[in-house]
Amino acid sequence: MSASASSTPSRFHNWLRLLVFLRPHLPRFLSGQFFGVLNALTSLALMKGVPKIWDSVFGVQGASLSEVFTLITMVPVIMIVRALTSYLNTYLTSWVANRIITDIRQKVFEHLQKLSLDFYSKANVGDLISRITSDCQQAQSAITTVVNDMVRHPITLLTVATALLVKDWQFSLAAVVLAPLCILPIAIYGRKVRRSSRLHQESQGEIVSRLHENITGARVVKAFHMEPYEAKKFGETSYRQFALQMRIVRSVNILSPLIEIVASLGAMAALLYAFQRGMRSGDFWELLLGIFFLYDPIKNLSKLHTTIQKSLASTDRILSILDTVPSIADAPAARELPPIRDALEFRDVSFRYDAKWVLQNVSLRIPHGKTIALVGPSGAGKTTLLNLLLRFYDPTRGAMLMDGADLREGALLSLRRQIALVSQDTVLFNDTIRNNIRYGRMDASEAEVIEAARRAHAHEFVLHQPNGYDTVVGDKGVKLSGGQKQRLAIARAILKNPAILLLDEATSALDTESERVVQQALDELIRGRTVVVIAHRLSTIQRADLIVVLDGGRIVEQGTHAELLARDRLYRRLHDLQFR
Ligand code: ADP
Repeated sequence: MSASASSTPSRFHNWLRLLVFLRPHLPRFLSGQFFGVLNALTSLALMKGVPKIWDSVFGVQGASLSEVFTLITMVPVIMIVRALTSYLNTYLTSWVANRIITDIRQKVFEHLQKLSLDFYSKANVGDLISRITSDCQQAQSAITTVVNDMVRHPITLLTVATALLVKDWQFSLAAVVLAPLCILPIAIYGRKVRRSSRLHQESQGEIVSRLHENITGARVVKAFHMEPYEAKKFGETSYRQFALQMRIVRSVNILSPLIEIVASLGAMAALLYAFQRGMRSGDFWELLLGIFFLYDPIKNLSKLHTTIQKSLASTDRILSILDTVPSIADAPAARELPPIRDALEFRDVSFRYDAKWVLQNVSLRIPHGKTIALVGPSGAGKTTLLNLLLRFYDPTRGAMLMDGADLREGALLSLRRQIALVSQDTVLFNDTIRNNIRYGRMDASEAEVIEAARRAHAHEFVLHQPNGYDTVVGDKGVKLSGGQKQRLAIARAILKNPAILLLDEATSALDTESERVVQQALDELIRGRTVVVIAHRLSTIQRADLIVVLDGGRIVEQGTHAELLARDRLYRRLHDLQFR
């Protein structure tokens, strides 16, 4: 899903794919188009009716008062029909267009939920956000216009042009000869708009991603005094977008005046022609009205072309997300993994994210109910081991087993239901404390939430929050201390009550008091479960049933604390470095 994917030749095909989303709304769409057709026919009625009224009022036909009156009332009647049908046409088709984009956005979001972590680790956050916001917006306005105009205007064009031909073919033919003059600039500028629009959308993504990076990295930016550098970088992107926007504005806005100039030349020629032929005024009115009613459809249909071009770039960027296949998904014959009874196992597992091997020939049995501590220098592959257990990734070689069954053959949900992850960067959502604890088990009762909070030693401090369990914790939980956030995460895991617990212990030390409470909460959480913990605390390591020492993606040692100390190798060195 790189940016260059947007220049594939299957663009138009992509746009047609969007129409699949139209299917559920077909009745509404068709009624909208029906009113559009009626609306188009009112143009023909006016073209034919008004000259008749003109002639009767100005006495060419010598009509009676009642005849004139009947004719005159036709005008407001037609205008009422015209207004009503125009309103209904626009309302119904706009409804459909807006709804299509809402459906697509929902579908893209749902698809994002299915995509695996490898997608997120490579994705550019700003670019993704801009695809779902501004690209959808772009496509939305384009589709509204297209859907609105696609039937009404061609029908007006067809009926009015036919009427004109029948009325005076020489006059109409002359108009047809002039038409290509209008179309030439449209073709030229349409291409320009298309090219600039794509670049513009891409630069929009760039702006959002710069913003995202800058805001999330604000601490570093300030600490290193890089504000001027950041402002300059942002300015470059921003002004590039300005230039692109102006290129689009120039191309789009040159079109209407061009068409108007051509039209005025046409009017001049028409007057000359009428004078030469000694035409009656009613007839001339008819021709003039015909040309007038043609102008709008031609103008809009020409814009339609550029609108479609503009929307193609956006729809392509949206659809390319839907085209990304989740790398971890249930196999067709995936079966439920029953609750763990015996053991988790790494069987000769090797793994790489990209070119470099991160784990090599790891074999490890984790008996159910035991606590395994993973120890090793940074980059040794500890987090990767947890990632494989959660099936965030599948092993490149070898297999992950639960009670002897390959995880790849089981349903993802049946695995993840059995696991809770408590990681050092505690993720809280900007929601109430209650909902943060219930995250993962939204059906939990109030009593269960409070019980979990109590066991996580969180109940006390939650009650001291301004609104208790209804307190909103702020973006990423900024309103809470580190220890409090950890205890909420622990409460969340306790409530989920998983058989398997994956723990990524915080490296940053809490103050002694918080440390003690968090430790108590963890003790409560660990009891009776299979635990794999990336351990940084001596107490955790000492209590583990088995310590596994990783280095460079391999298991270099394993044993109990005492055994490993006695062996005097890597574990001993790490231990002395960290805890002496
Ligand atoms: P640890 O948790 O022991 O510090 P990790 O499992 O996080 O080690 O990382 C092991 C190696 O894998 C490191 O060299 C790291 O750079 C690499 N790595 C981790 N995550 C990714 C990723 N998403 N893409 C590519 N390489 C990664």
